Amino acid sequence: MHPGIELDGKRVLVVGLARTGVATARFCAARGAQVTAIDDRGEEQLGDSVQELRKIGCTLSFGGDFIANFGAQDLIVPSPGVPSSHPGLVAAREARVPVWSEIELAWRFLRGRLIGVTGSNGKTTTTSLIGHILAGSGKRAIVAGNIGTPLIAHVDQSNDKTITVAEVSSFQLDLIDSFRPDISVLLNLTPDHLDRHASFEDYARAKRRIFENQTEHDAAVINADDPAATQPAPSRAQIFWFSRAKRVVSGAYLRGEQIIFRREGEDTWLLDRADISLRGEHNLENVLAAGSAAFLAGVAPAEIAAAVCSFPGVEHRLEFVTKISGVSFFNDSKATNVDATIKALQAFSGGLFVILGGKDKGTDYTPLVSVLRERAELVLLIGAAAEKIAAQLGGAVPLERAGTLQRAVARAYEHAREGDTVLLAPACASFDQFENYEHRGRTFKELVRALAEQPRALHVRGREV
Ligand code: ADP
Repeated sequence: MHPGIELDGKRVLVVGLARTGVATARFCAARGAQVTAIDDRGEEQLGDSVQELRKIGCTLSFGGDFIANFGAQDLIVPSPGVPSSHPGLVAAREARVPVWSEIELAWRFLRGRLIGVTGSNGKTTTTSLIGHILAGSGKRAIVAGNIGTPLIAHVDQSNDKTITVAEVSSFQLDLIDSFRPDISVLLNLTPDHLDRHASFEDYARAKRRIFENQTEHDAAVINADDPAATQPAPSRAQIFWFSRAKRVVSGAYLRGEQIIFRREGEDTWLLDRADISLRGEHNLENVLAAGSAAFLAGVAPAEIAAAVCSFPGVEHRLEFVTKISGVSFFNDSKATNVDATIKALQAFSGGLFVILGGKDKGTDYTPLVSVLRERAELVLLIGAAAEKIAAQLGGAVPLERAGTLQRAVARAYEHAREGDTVLLAPACASFDQFENYEHRGRTFKELVRALAEQPRALHVRGREV
């Protein structure tokens, strides 16, 4: 049993009214809490859901003029978008008011088993793949997190038979207390969100908190090929490594073209590499992690293999859009950091027209140089980070300052020839020109599909023939 918490009559302050905040306010109000919900934005910028909160008795305050006293609450639940340096949160901690993320609160009420997935990249893909495998094997699976709805919105659906798979971020893990997944998955740790965390070490420490409350009854699935993920290993959970490169003592590895799971000295075939329809070595890692978690949750190998084979992938993650006049277009708008972009580039052997840029997150782009040099014909720069990227690439690859995504798509198509690939994998956030990465990805797909309707002159590497 999870510890729960009595919410009836308690003063709960919800900070930030995006999806997670709204779901949290609703959850607490339904359990008799006196909920105050605040947001820096004005009410007109928030959706209809806030009206509903008012109807169910929440006190709302907007636009930064907060009447709420952070110190006079029984519990504060900030949304993932609210930095922990927020002056109100700092004051609350000083006043010893518990400040929890929504996953902590949700976990206290959740029933059944929980698989928590974290890492810098691949969380959504892996979470949704685990959900797909569990559902395919007839288990009662709930999939929660960025991919759909927050964990807290699923608590009421959970029961002793459900297995919940939740994608959890560093911001959420930073504010846990007793959150304890039965199976935790750490995919990788590469620099990201350094605009929000004080340092890489601080960010890595937050991610590792996924293991913090696990005991010897729980399992931790960890990427053995990522040095940042392996050290320090969790002290109490049973550890199952996964590796593309080497045989592991315990966990998943490749034996020739087979994926094997090794436990207590015994090898079990999970699936063949050929069962994986997703492109790229990074997706092999996601499959190793997802297959391990599903196997540990009791799914039979043949069911894992069948589900991996039928998994269609997730939108905006190295998503094939279409092929026009022999030029393939891929949408990896979710590649919002350098590591994801490198993985996307490595999924192709060459002939790439790469669209990079957007809102910078304090990123070092120089790690892109060697893989771009190997595989890119041309880089097309867009958005606010364009000049910084151009400076850091330092002339290593031909580049063009396209400014907008529309121009980048048009120019890439003009230059590309049959057999080439146009790849949107921007290594940046999208907020300078788009609402979010989904908006950027959808815009890219619309621009590409519009190209299919236009007549096109044939080109040989930029020269018209
Ligand atoms: P997250 O939820 O962690 O952001 P996603 O599955 O949404 O992860 O993928 C984010 C980006 O990272 C996409 O560009 C995707 O192609 C890429 N990616 C997916 N899996 C991995 C991985 N294991 N390592 C590196 N990059 C990955």
